[in-house]
Amino acid sequence: MSARLHVDLNALASNIDRVRETVAPAELMLVVKDDAYGHGLEPVVHAATAAGVSWFGAFDVRTGAAVRIAAGADARIFAWIAASRDDLDAAIAARIDLGVGDAGLLEELADAAADAGATPRVHLKIDTGLHRNGVRPEDWPGFVARAAELQSAGRIDVVGVWSHIAEASEAEDDDARAVFEAALAHAEAAGIHPSVRHLAASAASFARPEFRYDMVRVGAFCYGIRSAGGPSADDLGLKPIARLEAEVVAVHDEAASIGLGALQGLPTSLQGRAGVGTPGGRRPLLTVGGSESMVGTWPDAAIGDVVTIYGPGRDGEGSATDLAEMIDTIGEEIAVRVSPLIPRVFT
Ligand SMILES: *Cc1c(COP(=O)(O)O)cnc(C)c1O
Repeated sequence: MSARLHVDLNALASNIDRVRETVAPAELMLVVKDDAYGHGLEPVVHAATAAGVSWFGAFDVRTGAAVRIAAGADARIFAWIAASRDDLDAAIAARIDLGVGDAGLLEELADAAADAGATPRVHLKIDTGLHRNGVRPEDWPGFVARAAELQSAGRIDVVGVWSHIAEASEAEDDDARAVFEAALAHAEAAGIHPSVRHLAASAASFARPEFRYDMVRVGAFCYGIRSAGGPSADDLGLKPIARLEAEVVAVHDEAASIGLGALQGLPTSLQGRAGVGTPGGRRPLLTVGGSESMVGTWPDAAIGDVVTIYGPGRDGEGSATDLAEMIDTIGEEIAVRVSPLIPRVFT
């Protein structure tokens, strides 16, 4: 394989420190969905645990169970997608905190908990406008009343109230926060006193202190992926942790072919737009083929020369978000597209 993804776990630890000092006294939940944004779940969880991270955001229960194995018995693991009774049973077995934004699911969880003789920790989700599996404000009072009943009966332990926001416009986020505040007040009135209230992801956790509450759920910034259209990684005090490299596999008169293409996750829409890093500095990415791509105006290229598609910028390459902005997407998409077949090399 002539391509690889280098992942700098020291840079991850440094980003984690930076996020924590920024959001303190709020806690950090490191979001590790999608194989830790394509970087590799297990090494990321090990490094984060060594750096003192105690909360992980897993998305689904299967990922949560993998985090439990990697992070050990003491970690707190939050998953917010449970699709079946099997998922609920697995979540209870792995002692995963579950995000619940559906009245039917709350009942199912209480039943599964009774069968298992367990009292699972639950974070109730209010829909603050994104319409992604949360309880609508009009249904919230009934939902929290029922959750309080189940809690008094010892069937669940409600530890959190949470939501997710778009982080696209300040005004929309402010509206969402007003809905969140009202939901918190309803919960308190129903006798639910959550110890972890959480709303913000990367962008709001840095830019909007009033969105931090007790905990922030941060993925992108910990991996050094800045927001598209947002402040630079330098300004945020973050370092890209990944470097996607491919070797020159053939040389032509004025160009070189590298062993990486669309089938390994390089978007074809980058051809003719992006620059890549080479030993002599930045050069244009002329074409993106299936498994090979062409880098231009490079008369002295040699087989085995290393081309950096994205990374910290040492050879003139841009970041994942720099590439993303050329094709109207976000840096996370560039990161998670890198094929699982491309080896991850950890330093
Ligand atoms: C992905 C995700 C996050 C993390 O978002 P970033 O912008 O990568 O920090 C937080 N919360 C939820 C619910 C998510 O799905």
